[in-house]
Amino acid sequence: MESEKSRNGANHYENVACPFCGIVCDDLEVGPSGSGGLKVFKNGCARSIAGFERPLVEPSPQFDGKNVSLEEAVAAAAKLIRESRLPVFGGLATGVEGMRAVMSLAERGGGIVDHALSALIYRNVRVMQSSGWLTTSLTEARNRADLFVIAGCDLNQSNPRFFERIVCNEASMFSDNPPKRTVIFLGEGLDQSAVKGPRIADVLTIPCKIDRIGEILDAMRAMQKGASISDDTIGGVPRATIEDLLARYKAAAYSVVVWNPASFDFAGGDLTVQAICEFIKESNATSRSAGLPLGGNEGQPSAASVCAWQSGYPLRVSFANGKPEYDIERYDAARMLAAKEGDLLVWLASFGDDLVPPDTDVPTVVLGTPGLKLSRKPKVFIPVGTPGIDHVGRIIRVDNVVSLPLRKLRHSKLPSAADVLASIEAAL
Ligand code: SF4
Repeated sequence: MESEKSRNGANHYENVACPFCGIVCDDLEVGPSGSGGLKVFKNGCARSIAGFERPLVEPSPQFDGKNVSLEEAVAAAAKLIRESRLPVFGGLATGVEGMRAVMSLAERGGGIVDHALSALIYRNVRVMQSSGWLTTSLTEARNRADLFVIAGCDLNQSNPRFFERIVCNEASMFSDNPPKRTVIFLGEGLDQSAVKGPRIADVLTIPCKIDRIGEILDAMRAMQKGASISDDTIGGVPRATIEDLLARYKAAAYSVVVWNPASFDFAGGDLTVQAICEFIKESNATSRSAGLPLGGNEGQPSAASVCAWQSGYPLRVSFANGKPEYDIERYDAARMLAAKEGDLLVWLASFGDDLVPPDTDVPTVVLGTPGLKLSRKPKVFIPVGTPGIDHVGRIIRVDNVVSLPLRKLRHSKLPSAADVLASIEAAL
């Protein structure tokens, strides 16, 4: 339940949902800092503190580097879209309302839509589309899992409170005396420091190269089916260690393999996702096992869901022919800009200051967080607020099973991206 109380005469919010990574923790306490900004009083992490405590600045919109009114900037953006042969709507770091407005404008303007993190997410989507997968939700993992395998991802960077909220929780919804948990890190240099507390039994690390995780999971699939492997090592890891991992996996009542597709940044990274997913599916013949893909930052789950609701397809959709067309290679925004297939980039980044547009010399309209670290001046820049700080909104969690309401926490003149996009559409 959201709640609000007064502290020193100013609004102080409890159970605030945080939009700064995909797990969307909804237990933060945020209030005035005393020096004009916001302060995270409880349940923050480095990522959320950087987001909520970013100072409020309200710069003017710009056209060709010169300050203009919001109306003039909107009119200039509308003219660019109207005159564009094929506008590319990219970035798309926003909540549900912002993405709905993107879809509407892209349809009117005959453009294509693609999120900044699509290249990473498609390592998952390709597998889901081609061979299927069996995944779980954060809530199910939190309440049921007794074994977590963290496959190659440093969650303290991407989703800093994952262990605190989902793995180390002492209480469970289904048991007064929930079993202890084992956490196994598969990879090198992965931060284990957040895995602690009475709920945790063993914490193990199996050091291996990230690009050999698929090989290890494929070998485990074979061993699970009764094949014997005589090599001394599997994927660079002693065979006995992998046999122990498989034995622990078989003994678990509910195992969960966690990965972040961003970590599999090498040729054939999607094949590692596929190896994980096939292993999980086959493990369910004898026990309960599920995958849990994480990441989901920069509003990516919201963008993908809204695109699917409204067009029938996930991201990388074109409206150039007046109806939605889906092609994951052809409508890759970065590829289209590099090939000069798109002649205008409309970039939306409303959470942080580092989601910058790809380097392109096509004219660019940026709806962005003030202070966005742009390497070149866009044709039009319209500063927008952050959902969950400057205006209300809604965001979809990385497991795609819930959306959470976002609050307006401070007085700000920054408009929402949804309002700006609607104004641009009205001016087309
Ligand atoms: S883990 Fe993610 S959602 Fe939770 S507080 Fe940190 S940035 Fe926000």
